[in-house]
Amino acid sequence: MDYETIFRTAIDTLKAEGRYRIFAELERHAGAFPRAAHHGLDGAPDVTVWCSNDYLGMGQHPAVLAAMHEALDRCGAGAGGTRNISGTHIYHRALEEELADLHGKDAALLFTSGFVSNDAALSTLAKLIPGCVIFSDALNHASMIAGIRHSGCEKRIFRHNDPADLDRLMSEYPLTRPKLVAFESVYSMDGDIAPIAEICDVADKHGAMTYLDEVHAVGMYGPRGGGIAERDGLTRRLTVIEGTLGKAFGVMGGYVAGSAMLVDALRSHAPGFIFTTSLPPVVAAGALAAIRHLKASGAERERHQERAATLKRLLRAAGLPVMPSVSHIVPVFVGDARLCKAASDLLLERHRIYVQPINFPTVPRGAERLRITPTPLHDDLQMARLVEALRDVWATLAIPAAAAA
Ligand SMILES: *Cc1c(COP(=O)(O)O)cnc(C)c1O
Repeated sequence: MDYETIFRTAIDTLKAEGRYRIFAELERHAGAFPRAAHHGLDGAPDVTVWCSNDYLGMGQHPAVLAAMHEALDRCGAGAGGTRNISGTHIYHRALEEELADLHGKDAALLFTSGFVSNDAALSTLAKLIPGCVIFSDALNHASMIAGIRHSGCEKRIFRHNDPADLDRLMSEYPLTRPKLVAFESVYSMDGDIAPIAEICDVADKHGAMTYLDEVHAVGMYGPRGGGIAERDGLTRRLTVIEGTLGKAFGVMGGYVAGSAMLVDALRSHAPGFIFTTSLPPVVAAGALAAIRHLKASGAERERHQERAATLKRLLRAAGLPVMPSVSHIVPVFVGDARLCKAASDLLLERHRIYVQPINFPTVPRGAERLRITPTPLHDDLQMARLVEALRDVWATLAIPAAAAA
């Protein structure tokens, strides 16, 4: 067998389609976000990062850094074990209590990432319930799809954000059949938001549990940063709320929040929780500081929304095809993988602006885009430069300006 040839073919396919991934090698400057040195360019010049998921800049917040320094000096580097075998520390417990409170739930459980939390929680929950059918939104994240697949359950896909379609599918099953509806609040590529109340209504009608991924909303929406469910007063209607510590909270890790019994069942049965080293105390301490700060302070959230609204307005005024997002995410439509990559390259080389191209399979073919994520730390001047640079790139590459989806 010529294994190397198999791997080369797998790579060549991506290259032929113009969607081979090249990572930008950055050196973030704590205190100067969104500026970073770009080591892929000659002399590693500073660039302005416009595609970070450190949505609120908490990754450099003084309170977060101070908490992490303190925890590092106090406890050392790693956790030293799985949660069960010497790897549960004061910070894990405090963080789980903080997260449970954030989402108005009895309990929360930490995982090493949001991906792992979705994979582990969905697969384990559904496995614990004989005959469970999972109803999954068509645009759910890869981590939820992985968890659903690993559950081995029957799965039905409902049309994106469409409670009527969900109702139609659920009506094929008797009320006595166990069911789980898995969906997200803010969808990260289009920036649209699920009709959570309507989906919960349908779930209630059919006796289903609800599982909501709030990864792109925690820290950013709701009076205390509890997400869209908190903003809309719906937390009690959700069986499980899942989130990440890696985006608006600026560190890394994932979690679910739910009833004491459900969380205990996951703690006791999920291999992705049990058989892995727990988060380093220093990481848990940083996340704890970020959550506490954002629970008490709405300033970052307000500025974030203002920045996103301002950027959308400026892009529209400049005739650029900004897609109709209702959140902080600002997608600009390109519609072609090669053009999207070329636009990103030109932004970087000519304008020192970094926006990663988003291609298939992250979005459907023909829906390629630049996904821009303004933060409270992007100022007016950086914004004006971005708009000018995009106009130049659109003109240079002759990208259609009005082809917005
Ligand atoms: C990023 C993401 C995840 C995974 O979270 P990580 O903490 O980065 O692993 C889960 N769900 C959605 C919708 C995401 O976009």
